[in-house]
Amino acid sequence: MKNPPFEYHCPGSLNEAVTLLAELGDDAKILAGGQSLLPVMALRLGTPPHIIDIGGLTELADITVGSDGVTIGATVRHRAAETSDDIARHAPLVAAALPHVGHRAIRTRGTVLGSIAHADPAAEMPAVCLATGATMVARSVDGEREIAAADFFEGYLTTVLHDNEILTHVRFPAWPATAGAAVVEISRRHGDYALVGLACKVDVTEGEITSAALSFLGVSGTPVRVTRAEQSLVGKTPGDTV
Ligand code: FAD
Repeated sequence: MKNPPFEYHCPGSLNEAVTLLAELGDDAKILAGGQSLLPVMALRLGTPPHIIDIGGLTELADITVGSDGVTIGATVRHRAAETSDDIARHAPLVAAALPHVGHRAIRTRGTVLGSIAHADPAAEMPAVCLATGATMVARSVDGEREIAAADFFEGYLTTVLHDNEILTHVRFPAWPATAGAAVVEISRRHGDYALVGLACKVDVTEGEITSAALSFLGVSGTPVRVTRAEQSLVGKTPGDTV
């Protein structure tokens, strides 16, 4: 099926984009990489009359490392993040998750923040945000606000973002030198959405687990932290049966 007709807008700046969004309200959808939005439209599951394409906004194409962690802008493609030395070194759970996101062609177009805004419960990035305690930065004509990952995902394909807001950045906290990262998944074929998956951050000091963050994907309408299981790991040695 073909996409329904829509009016295409291509703002030249973030300010222009949020102004357009404020004018058009819930008649408009943001287009980033289009890897989820365009299939949704082609299947007529969503028929927004206006599309605001932010994919070309270079002011949001930044990956920056600071004392507060790693910040990724809204037009950074999955593949750019996957091949970033800064992400590999300073956000290893993000790096571990990225190769699981669809196929390379999808990662070449799709954006990290598009995945987060789309909030598919089987997607990797929302689970990584939850496990790491990431912070989302949203902008509207009214200004900027920050939202903790734990408060961001509301349900299936639903977040707390308002209709007039654009997610501009996600910030992953500084990664401790003592922590390890892993993403494990079960999927029918590599590149498919996972049936179930787990994003883990485990802190080990002098051979003992001092904290653990375990975030499941594909098990509910949002990613899920399993806090009792996390607590049961504290004080154990990696490899112990708990
Ligand atoms: P778009 O498709 O452009 O937008 C998606 C939604 O988010 C839209 O509602 C849009 O309005 C909104 N949005 C996007 N950016 C912003 C923003 N900055 N602010 C506010 N709203 C925004 N994903 C996985 O995680 N794991 C997989 O295994 C996986 N497999 C896939 C397999 C196939 C065959 C396909 C087609 C896709 C797959 N995806 C998978 C989805 C892919 O990762 C998408 O790229 C991603 O979900 C959305 O990113 P995007 O930039 O393409 O967003």
